[in-house]
Amino acid sequence: MKISHHFDDATLIAYASGSLPQGMAVLVGSHLHWCKACRDRAREADAVGGSLLEEIEPVEMSGDALAQMLDCLDLPEAQRLPSTEPEVRSQKAMETGLPAPLAELLGRPLDQLQWRRIGYGVHQYDLGLEGPGATRLLRIAPGVSVPHHSHRGNELTLILRGSYSDELGRFCAGDVADVDTDVAHQPIVDTGEECICLIATDAPLKFSGLMGRLAQPFIGL
Ligand SMILES: [Zn+2]
Repeated sequence: MKISHHFDDATLIAYASGSLPQGMAVLVGSHLHWCKACRDRAREADAVGGSLLEEIEPVEMSGDALAQMLDCLDLPEAQRLPSTEPEVRSQKAMETGLPAPLAELLGRPLDQLQWRRIGYGVHQYDLGLEGPGATRLLRIAPGVSVPHHSHRGNELTLILRGSYSDELGRFCAGDVADVDTDVAHQPIVDTGEECICLIATDAPLKFSGLMGRLAQPFIGL
């Protein structure tokens, strides 16, 4: 698996400190299952994040906040806690082919879920987790696009199968999109294979086009 899109430092610091909503934590843990680079960064965030987080306003952090913090600290190796190793022996992960945190929640492969059709070429499976925000799987047919939308909060996406492209680039299995209120985008599935992704938000999305606004009550994104 070749992964080219990763989390912001701010997201990994929030994950390491245990302050993400459940759905986002499952999504981050799932990417970490596949991505050694982010596991290493999360370990560093775990070591430095806890004591500093309370003094830092998360919304004001820049994307390279962790790197800046690490530059300021000279931690001995022993303080870098190994807290985020992948659960490679997870039985459910082996049975489903999914990363362990998601596999444990779903308990079955993607093809055996009760998908609900929510529009042309789009199916959804709501994980039904406690808020704030929502955590769902979207299964999108080839050539279909999600209505153009921006965000009131943060939105994390982990691609599980297939790929899509949007204003930010091309995202394939294993990649994550880590977007906040500044970003408006319109993902479109860009191969002949359907795209399945896990999406976790901490606030509702805001659709910009007329079709998006019409679709919002039905999609419930
Ligand atoms: Zn990564």
